[in-house]
Amino acid sequence: MNRTLLIIDDSKAIRTQVEQTFADGNMFQKILQAADGIEAFKLLVNNNVDIILCDIEMPGIDGLKFLAMLQSREDLKEIPVLMLTSHGDLNTKVRGLESGACDYITKPFEPAEMVARVHVQMQIKTLQDELRRSNQLLLQLAQTDPLTRLYNRRHLYEKLETELNRCYRGRNPLSLIMADIDHFKQVNDKYGHQVGDEVLVRVADLLQEQLRTYDLAARYGGEEFCLVLPETDLEAACEVAERIRMRAEEMTFSGKMENHKLTISFGVAAYDGTTDGSIDEIVKVADAALYEAKNAGRNQIKEKEIFS
Ligand code: GH3
Ligand code: MG
Ligand code: MG
Ligand code: MG
Repeated sequence: MNRTLLIIDDSKAIRTQVEQTFADGNMFQKILQAADGIEAFKLLVNNNVDIILCDIEMPGIDGLKFLAMLQSREDLKEIPVLMLTSHGDLNTKVRGLESGACDYITKPFEPAEMVARVHVQMQIKTLQDELRRSNQLLLQLAQTDPLTRLYNRRHLYEKLETELNRCYRGRNPLSLIMADIDHFKQVNDKYGHQVGDEVLVRVADLLQEQLRTYDLAARYGGEEFCLVLPETDLEAACEVAERIRMRAEEMTFSGKMENHKLTISFGVAAYDGTTDGSIDEIVKVADAALYEAKNAGRNQIKEKEIFS
């Protein structure tokens, strides 16, 4: 693994001593040096630093100020910092630990002790990084539909709540599109469930392609999808739906499905920005519009605006 150590100390002699302590390359493949806090920040921004050894007494930005600055940076605050302090300075050690340092080493230092303490912090960091990664993965699994990788219904509701509130606060419109594949049961019946699954993925990809970054797409149910378009009025949402409808019609397939024509029906509902909207209401209105589109012959869009 490629690991990087950053040494911050105004004394060149100390920096060199620390660098020599880790010179065998067993623990770090890269060792960076900074003479003060500003220089350190420049290095932190441009390098993936794994651990920092930081002097407390430095001219300009001292170690404690550096710790405070580091803590205020979301992207940097997880990097472990070991303080380099002078002998007997208990008050500073305590303040440093309170400010986010994970340990301290007293100068003049014993190289073996420094290696051991840094090693412990690196092990903790490795475990924490793994934990963060698996938490992220779990969160992703909890929020997405495994087949299409779109958000699942539960996560859609969470996001929709936030978006509805945000749009209402800013007096902005919000639209919701319900999309349901027409006669999808026939796809399964004619070509098999696995081909059906592939079609669902193709449709999900199509939806995702047509959305802007702040829109969101979810798998609402089996072959039913839901799109949330914040700050988008009914007319603009219908244009989005129409674009998707046409793209679906143009979709081509290979193999058994070669001659299949896929179509999708849409129900669009929108708040105009003057109403304190509710999830249940907008979903209900979009669903009713979708039902109308199905009854009117499918492969079309029906819409309804919600007024207060
Ligand atoms: P309509 O035009 O009225 O919407 O007709 P439809 O056939 O699309 O609707 P219906 O509700 O009758 O059938 C939906 C079908 O979607 C039935 C179900 O087996 C299929 N389906 C639901 N989830 C999945 C899935 O994950 N994979 C596959 N392959 N099929 C699915
Ligand atoms: Mg110093
Ligand atoms: Mg259907
Ligand atoms: Mg359906």
